[in-house]
Amino acid sequence: MTTDNTPEKPVDFIRQIIADDLKSGKHRTIVTRFPPEPNGFLHIGHAKSICLNFGIARENNATCHLRFDDTNPGKESTEYVEAIKADVHWLGFDWGEHLYYASDYFEQLYDFAIQLIGRGKAYVCHLNADEMREYRGTLTEPGKNSPYRDRTVEENLVLFEQMKNGELDEGTCALRAKIDMASPNILMRDPVIYRIMKTSHHRTGDTWCIYPMYDFCHCLSDMLEKITHSLCTLEFENNRPLYDWVLDTLETPCHPRQYEFARLNINYTVMSKRKLLQLVEKNHVLGWDDPRMLTISGLRRRGYTPASIRNFCAVIGMGKRDSWIDMGVLENAIRDDLNEHAPRVLGVLRPLKVVITNYPEDQEEELVAQNHPQKPEMGTRMVPFCREIYVEETDFMEDAPRKFFRLSVGREVRLRYAYLVTCQEVIKDENGKVVELRCTYDPETRGGSAPDGRKVKGTIHWVSARHGIPAEIRLYDRLFTAEHPDMDKEKDFTEFLNPDSLNTLHTSILEPTLAKATMEDRFQFERQGYFCLDSLDSTTEHPVFNRIVTLRDSWKKMTRKK
Ligand code: ATP
Ligand code: MG
Repeated sequence: MTTDNTPEKPVDFIRQIIADDLKSGKHRTIVTRFPPEPNGFLHIGHAKSICLNFGIARENNATCHLRFDDTNPGKESTEYVEAIKADVHWLGFDWGEHLYYASDYFEQLYDFAIQLIGRGKAYVCHLNADEMREYRGTLTEPGKNSPYRDRTVEENLVLFEQMKNGELDEGTCALRAKIDMASPNILMRDPVIYRIMKTSHHRTGDTWCIYPMYDFCHCLSDMLEKITHSLCTLEFENNRPLYDWVLDTLETPCHPRQYEFARLNINYTVMSKRKLLQLVEKNHVLGWDDPRMLTISGLRRRGYTPASIRNFCAVIGMGKRDSWIDMGVLENAIRDDLNEHAPRVLGVLRPLKVVITNYPEDQEEELVAQNHPQKPEMGTRMVPFCREIYVEETDFMEDAPRKFFRLSVGREVRLRYAYLVTCQEVIKDENGKVVELRCTYDPETRGGSAPDGRKVKGTIHWVSARHGIPAEIRLYDRLFTAEHPDMDKEKDFTEFLNPDSLNTLHTSILEPTLAKATMEDRFQFERQGYFCLDSLDSTTEHPVFNRIVTLRDSWKKMTRKK
């Protein structure tokens, strides 16, 4: 396997902060957490956060908690919880006994809310959503105090209890923190910290009909778990004063520190769970694990290795400013991994039959093929050869230009690991479509070189027609044609879906060794890219291979040409 870039010296500002905190004795050990909301599957952006939080814990011999931030019933489910756990494990990380749910803290969070009310720092407010927005003010204007702001503690306690007991209707009131309606930070203008929501929760059922808001729940969950460094993405920078306010006001025994890092953005894709959900629900893709989706489960099914994703996260680094990462960087990460490790095989994607007329009908032989030409230690295998073989349709051209070093009448090419063959004749069907080539081979060129030293430039791949195994092949391209599909003001991101993102080939023929391929195997089909079995649809009778990635970045070439 590829080794991870485990650094000796801190490589980013967060690791630097942690190293300093350990050195100064501020912390004897550290605790991080990864806090997904179970309202969808994880995507490559989450992988960045997972590699950061679990990676830091691993490097420091410390713990990282997996905490489900499940405070929004209705959108959340146990199915998502299980998928997220599987994805974190697959990426190579483990939370050990530290699996938590914000919903486990509902009772304690409720008590904290009562404490806030008791300290005169929270109140039940009956403004409706529109009024609340109006009272909040704008970036340039301060807000106005709610008419309910100065209720007595006793009154607030009674009302909050009624909220909890389901005596008040959804939307009629909410519990708000009493901070400062004139704060330049709008999030500090008396934010809502509890709302009424008469929705069953996937873990607590109907026990609760009030649920805490993120800003109240998150800092207290961190505190209860004694998290030392609470790492989140930059959009939470303005939430930090609120995070600190809640903990300070409640005078909690420990006060985790929040640090923000830049979220991962990749071009030619969308990265928000809401949009990914939309792709799934509107059937633009075949599911959360569609190999074109940049979800962890999609990447896994596509054939990405956990190591390639961890390396990708190491390569992109951890900055404090938002930036775009080119999709090619992700593709290169898996290419680099597979280039090292994937055995080479022969597979013809779009077959064209070739009959070698001077090769005896009843003859067969086995030829030695290298599993990795640059790595002799990966050994060799035998591939069968006979009178009828398949080659790639695109390796033949009728009116070939001079520099076409492949098959055309009168031209000689090398069949990889086999013989030199010369094309003699083209057979067409009634529509003029080329359906077969007649070639002759030179028996003196076994292995692919001519004893007389004559030069043959082109080498093509092939598969024995008698021995090859039929397979379905799925070729993928990027899901979107636009670099930033969700940043167009006029158009919905789905308008930029690439109509050619999936190309299914039903008649491909592969060398017989691939009959033994397992779900874990990944191969380079010579000249065609890297492939693996599709974990969902492939069967022994009907093998289905996904192309993980092409051999080269074809998009780069295209943009260069423009
Ligand atoms: P999305 O915006 O895609 O819906 P989210 O932030 O709502 O994602 P959460 O389940 O709340 O999803 O995220 C869990 C953790 O993953 C958070 O700490 C969040 O900051 C982090 N995370 C989410 N998206 C990214 C990203 N693109 N890059 C880095 N970290 C991310
Ligand atoms: Mg979120």
